[in-house]
Amino acid sequence: MIRLARRLAGTTAVCVALGAALAACGTTEAPHAGPPAPSRPSSSATPPPTLAPGPGGAAPVFMNGPRTLGKTVAFTFDADMTADQGPRAAAGEHFDNPALIATLRRLKVPATIFMTGRWADEYPDQARSLGRDPQFEVANHSYSHYAFTGDCYGLPTVSAANMKSDVERAYAALLRAGVPHPMPYFRFPGGCYDRQALRAVGPLGVTAVQWDVVSGDAFATDADAVAKQVLDGVKPGSVVVMHCTRSAAPTTEQVVRTVVPELRKQGFRFVKVSELIGETPGHR
Ligand SMILES: [Zn+2]
Repeated sequence: MIRLARRLAGTTAVCVALGAALAACGTTEAPHAGPPAPSRPSSSATPPPTLAPGPGGAAPVFMNGPRTLGKTVAFTFDADMTADQGPRAAAGEHFDNPALIATLRRLKVPATIFMTGRWADEYPDQARSLGRDPQFEVANHSYSHYAFTGDCYGLPTVSAANMKSDVERAYAALLRAGVPHPMPYFRFPGGCYDRQALRAVGPLGVTAVQWDVVSGDAFATDADAVAKQVLDGVKPGSVVVMHCTRSAAPTTEQVVRTVVPELRKQGFRFVKVSELIGETPGHR
């Protein structure tokens, strides 16, 4: 499924505003979280690196870091949750994955978590814990995983008019859960974006973060196959997409236990996305 996103990425598919999607996602919260970087309360901390905006103020897109600055790799974990999954969570389904986070901590693997606002609402203690742990950085994965293009795995669609406020709503949820400094990075649900979507979120100052390595952990049942795909795909500067949603990605913790020692044996160092962006020519 996620492989398709790589083909979709960069296309100019037109976002179709659907009435049903509007009804579900058209509300925004006040007060807004505002653009993440300028609203940072701390004056001492340097703002995280971002890429320069594209034409017309469109959000820039980051896929991977430089290939020639040494063996670094960034693991990213999407914390997916959709607006209608609350009852399933209440019935015991795990959209979180505490064992995975514990393993990342035990193995001391820095990581970037792309968190939906809906996930932060459901698991505020975990969101806060991740947001306050310097080993991790928490970034934005929309409020409830609605697509920002018209054709994205059948996900409900956010209308162009509501794209910016959806990202703001997610930032508000992250802050409310206790993530003190959510990063100015946005991952489009499904990785689906087009020019209109980049222009819509551009004013927020976010860098859109894609990936160059698909782990294939979504709905996988064979951890060895996922691990092989990661090990085959990783190059210096790679960004790997995985999930920290146990119900939709049950093998991920096992995959991490397999691939981390192997990549370290090959000389790779684990970094957060911000470090790779900070090494990218033209970053700010
Ligand atoms: Zn996702």
